[in-house]
Amino acid sequence: MHLDVSGELHLVCQRCLQPMTWPVAVKTELTQFSDEATLDEAEEQDEDLEGMLVDPALDIDALVEEEVLLAVPFAPRHDACEGTSGTADKADKPNPFAVLATLKTRKAED
Ligand SMILES: [Zn+2]
Repeated sequence: MHLDVSGELHLVCQRCLQPMTWPVAVKTELTQFSDEATLDEAEEQDEDLEGMLVDPALDIDALVEEEVLLAVPFAPRHDACEGTSGTADKADKPNPFAVLATLKTRKAED
């Protein structure tokens, strides 16, 4: 089975705490086996092999969700943070955590 997932996730940057779009691109090859013994044997012979048992009631949505979750970074960050001086949401109160993050960054740069 060939799984090809692409799209966009809306995450929060763990450095500047601003929203960020994270492009998802997951490509997985899953080999289906009819019994566990054959699966185990095949996985032993090929470490890269991703095997699974044939399941007539396979929940594709759950499978896709699992693969995407595995691919999402634990602490997503912008490649380059724009900082907190953005013009987009000036009306909003500054996020105290974002301010804190800025202070920390400045301290580190000194
Ligand atoms: Zn950022």
